[in-house]
Amino acid sequence: MGLYTASDGHVDPYSLTQAIAKGARKYGALIFQGLGVTTLNLREDGRWVVSTTEGDILANRVVNAAGFWAKEIAKLAGSDLPLVPNHHQYLVTSTVPEVKALKREIPVLRHLEGSFYLRMERDGLLIGPYESTHTMRQCEDWMWNGVPEGFGKELFEPDMDRLEPHLEIAMQLVPCFADASIQSVVNGPITYTPDVLPLVGPDMLPNMWLAAGFGYGIIHGGGMGSYLASWIINGQPPFEMTECDPLRFGSWTTNDYVLAKARESYGMNNAVTYPHEERFAGRPTSRVSGAHEVLESEGACMQIHSGWEQPAWFTSPGQQPQYCPSFQRTNWHEAVEKEVDLVMTSAGIIDLTPFAKIIVQGRQAAAFMDYMTANSVPPLGRTVITHILSPTGHVYAELTVTRTHEDTFLVITGSGVELHDLRCWKLRNFGVECVASGERFQDVGR
Ligand SMILES: Cc1cc2nc3c(=O)[nH]c(=O)nc-3n(C[C@H](O)[C@H](O)[C@H](O)COP(=O)(O)OP(=O)(O)OC[C@H]3O[C@@H](n4cnc5c(N)ncnc54)[C@H](O)[C@@H]3O)c2cc1C
Repeated sequence: MGLYTASDGHVDPYSLTQAIAKGARKYGALIFQGLGVTTLNLREDGRWVVSTTEGDILANRVVNAAGFWAKEIAKLAGSDLPLVPNHHQYLVTSTVPEVKALKREIPVLRHLEGSFYLRMERDGLLIGPYESTHTMRQCEDWMWNGVPEGFGKELFEPDMDRLEPHLEIAMQLVPCFADASIQSVVNGPITYTPDVLPLVGPDMLPNMWLAAGFGYGIIHGGGMGSYLASWIINGQPPFEMTECDPLRFGSWTTNDYVLAKARESYGMNNAVTYPHEERFAGRPTSRVSGAHEVLESEGACMQIHSGWEQPAWFTSPGQQPQYCPSFQRTNWHEAVEKEVDLVMTSAGIIDLTPFAKIIVQGRQAAAFMDYMTANSVPPLGRTVITHILSPTGHVYAELTVTRTHEDTFLVITGSGVELHDLRCWKLRNFGVECVASGERFQDVGR
């Protein structure tokens, strides 16, 4: 069985880049080639001094779109990014008579079991495997020691042994490939985030924007450029893409976690995915509730959300807390049904540890909450559900706010949006202080 995508195709990356550059110049962009950013310094007024090998540039905002160097650029600004380059290989054959004889280009072929894509490249074939989790290689050293000085468009040594299992399947599928001679093998760094989605949007630092971590880079280029430009110009994104928000990761996303997750994601590139899928690499992170062991001893089967291990369902006596994915009814169906019934008809205790908790305090705390949120500020001892709105009135965040003292508020929000919600808070304007997950913020606003 196969699926045919009529609009599938390929584009020459060099020509595409030149076309986008031509369009940018038409609208006034200046493009400087061959100079490197060496330092980044944030001024009091929120602007950045971008020092380059050809002199300084004073920038209202900076977009870090430096591919596998993006982690290095972030370090220049005093932050870090959850990125790691994986080795990615493809090979090109010399002329294949059967391919040369074709009257039109064949579609790109993706084979899931062989884990490769295959397409025409001039009169030959190009095949790009996604190697398995166990065999693939990563630039692990770069994670700890940085990209080696001077590493530019260089490539790594090809490794045919790792490609072989994929090529054997390709030969069975496309017999003319078996007789072709290999013209070249390319092995280069391809930048991965832990979940393979890119980092697109504002970082925590003022006027620092990100467009990095494109594991499938070129296909995202135009859309992401337009999305980011619209956000920068209008002060809000044209539509929500929180799954790509750079602040979905935080200090819990260690280098070890990034390495393990990027390895798993790359190796499972062509794996069948299931509804409510769980993946286990890099777990547990540091985000483990104090009730974790008690919950496990009560039969909790854990799932991960924003780094937190949290119970997905509880086993019945005699049942194993085992993750068994399925396209049909799963092994947790009846357990969840029973739990819902019990909570609805009697009671349940839920561990809310993973929710993000933020304490806002200071003489101006009430004025600050009134400015930031749409609902009324609660009186002492009371709680409200309230929202932070975008400039045009869209919901940016939903918060549960409790006034614990006259000048102190406990704010509860989702575990995955803590930094996202904090990003828009102009704390300094109100002289308030904010403590979130043990980290202290004076001002994270833009
Ligand atoms: C072997 C291989 C095959 C691939 N095949 C495909 C494919 O078939 N389809 C696909 O869509 N993608 C593919 N990719 C992925 C794709 O190439 C990348 O995802 C894409 O290039 C990433 O784009 P980017 O703009 O984020 O980064 P890059 O293209 O790496 O651009 C980053 C830019 O930042 C610049 N820069 C870095 N440091 C500095 C500094 N200090 N100062 C100034 N500038 C700096 C660099 O010079 C570079 O121009 C492949 C990658 C590899 C390695």
